[in-house]
Amino acid sequence: MDNLTHSLVGAALAELTLPADAPRATRRTFFVAGIVAANLPDADLVYTRITAPPVGYLLHHRGHTHTLAGIAVLGVAIAAVCALPAIRASVGAWRNRFWLLIALALVSHLVLDFWNSYGVHPFWPLSSRWFYGDAVYILEPWLWALLGAAAALNAQSRVGRVLVGGFVAVLLALGTWMHVIPWPALALILVVTACFVALAGRLTAQRRSAVALVLSALYVAGVFGMRQVAKAEVASTPAEQRDSEQGVGHDVVSHAAVPIRRPVDLVLSAQAANPLCWSVLSITTDAPATMYVMTRGTVALILPNACGTSRERRVAWESPQIQSIARLRALYANDCWVRAWLQFGRAPEIRDNAISDLRYSGPDRSNFTTMPIGQWSSGACPRYLTDWRPPRADILQAGQSR
Ligand SMILES: [Zn+2]
Repeated sequence: MDNLTHSLVGAALAELTLPADAPRATRRTFFVAGIVAANLPDADLVYTRITAPPVGYLLHHRGHTHTLAGIAVLGVAIAAVCALPAIRASVGAWRNRFWLLIALALVSHLVLDFWNSYGVHPFWPLSSRWFYGDAVYILEPWLWALLGAAAALNAQSRVGRVLVGGFVAVLLALGTWMHVIPWPALALILVVTACFVALAGRLTAQRRSAVALVLSALYVAGVFGMRQVAKAEVASTPAEQRDSEQGVGHDVVSHAAVPIRRPVDLVLSAQAANPLCWSVLSITTDAPATMYVMTRGTVALILPNACGTSRERRVAWESPQIQSIARLRALYANDCWVRAWLQFGRAPEIRDNAISDLRYSGPDRSNFTTMPIGQWSSGACPRYLTDWRPPRADILQAGQSR
């Protein structure tokens, strides 16, 4: 998730763990510690350049610091800093509460990052497998609004209140202006947040944060619930159905030759602020496993216009992208750059001598994952690699058990 959400969760956890009668210095230390700990796993961004781009970013961000072992090490680093006399004095007698806050804030980072289709691999080194929540979009305005309203109300000064509230309001306005947040969703967010402010205004700061966290958790649980509905819709209107009606949009396979497909993966993500509209990416292979087919689509739940314009079908599929399994396996075996890239790539699309992850763009559009193929011919391989299990080990037959 974005660092605003991580920070707001860290601030809410600080409010929950703070004793009611804490002096100002203790309060400040708890807030700084909560927000820093909730963001600290993203410190891996500092060293992604040790490996050539884009592999360095893909393997090292959400890398070792985003594991249970990694956050244990980060906890030790925080403990070393907090041994400074000034910090110890400000924590005072509330050491147990303070360490509870640090632990909760660090774990919260992994939990929040799990919610997206980007994935985390928390159990390294026991398991290098990626886990995908496939639910909440990486920027979620509902969480900004609810947690931001609580943080603004809890601010100790008028300036703090205006700064926090104003920042979230500007982000919501920007998101709507950039068409990331649909207008009806913005209106609903504003109404619900206004109700929250009116009701939570009478509560203590601690209870306000607790209510905001519970409401946020309920929202996220709701998105995960809707994910199951979206999955059921996809199952009833699979991507192959579109192919057989319209013919596949590629010259490798003719319409008549579309064979039976085996599902490999289904990537799902709710739209920002709108869990009634889902982006989906279906990955299937043909029965003899000569090709894999990736098809992007959208699923409109409950309302026919949940994804914008009104439509008859809940699931709308785009043209499928057909890729050769033999070519992917050959690159995995012979090209050390592609082999490294495949520790991250979940939807590898090879086109124009470059490989991209189709999770992050439409066909023909490059994105932060796009890497030219053939760099191995220079004789140099990328250095300082990780050992994440390739998400597409199923297609690659990579043979890794962890
Ligand atoms: Zn992160």
